[in-house]
Amino acid sequence: MDKLDQPGGARQESLGHYEMLWDCGHCETKKLLGKTHRHCPHCGAPQDERARYFPSDADKVRVEDHQFTGADKKCASCGAAQSAKADHCGQCGAPLGEAGRVKLVEPARPARKTSNLLWYVLFGLVVVAVLVWFMCIRKRDIALEVTGHRWAAVQELEEFREVTEETWRDEVPPGARALSCHKKQRSTRSVPDGEDCKTEKVDKGDGTFEEVRTCTPRTRQEGVDDDFCRFLIDRWTKVEELAAKGQGLEVAWPAVPPSPIQDGYGARRAGKRRATYTLELSDGKQARTCDLAEATWKKYQPGQKVKAQVRARSGELVCSSL
Ligand SMILES: [Zn+2]
Ligand SMILES: [Zn+2]
Repeated sequence: MDKLDQPGGARQESLGHYEMLWDCGHCETKKLLGKTHRHCPHCGAPQDERARYFPSDADKVRVEDHQFTGADKKCASCGAAQSAKADHCGQCGAPLGEAGRVKLVEPARPARKTSNLLWYVLFGLVVVAVLVWFMCIRKRDIALEVTGHRWAAVQELEEFREVTEETWRDEVPPGARALSCHKKQRSTRSVPDGEDCKTEKVDKGDGTFEEVRTCTPRTRQEGVDDDFCRFLIDRWTKVEELAAKGQGLEVAWPAVPPSPIQDGYGARRAGKRRATYTLELSDGKQARTCDLAEATWKKYQPGQKVKAQVRARSGELVCSSL
């Protein structure tokens, strides 16, 4: 038995060689042997290799010590299937030098369902895409005038504190204190879990077939634990947000009060700041607003005429067109 390593870790094993079967087309004799019966033992008609088929398990006839020399040649003159070793056709005597090989019988596979369903789904998706474009994406131009600028600013305040944090042991930062850890699943790994096997009949084209068993390893996922730790550490921590809002192009950031303590726990400092920049526009009838990036917001002056785009259906202003 040959064992072959296949790509993907699959393992192939030969379960032996067997005779293909064929039915005589001249005298109706059935289940003749592909290798042994080159002619019909009943009426003498030559074997038609196109009539070969795989036997049922009950009809299998083993070929011991099979020497495979290649798929049969097909005589170009009379069409008879001849052993790959033959130089001349046993039927008509023609030389077989230029002869092609016989067509192999395909193993029975479960028919793949290529129904029209896929096409209906594709057609449906195209219709939906067109509808979405028509209802929601289509745009038209509109003339607007800038009527004002608004802003809303937030200034964060941070305090130096001792805080509790959690993370994996190999990610604990320097300066961590009072570490306490427990096991917790961190990742998964594949572990072997048996194999899936299937047996197939392979036509060798010389009146025999080989039964080949292919086994593919199966895996399952298994959790991998690691130490998950809780610890104390000193951090600048966000404790407050100071908000302000106003009109015009100048943003007045909220003032940061002086820190009550200079160093150590309780010291305070300015943290991150963020703002939204709102542009007010009008088309003469309807007022509209857009939240923009700071640079874009600053670009526009009060009273400036602007060309922008709106959704063709809803009339909603497309702020990215500014
Ligand atoms: Zn016959
Ligand atoms: Zn011939």
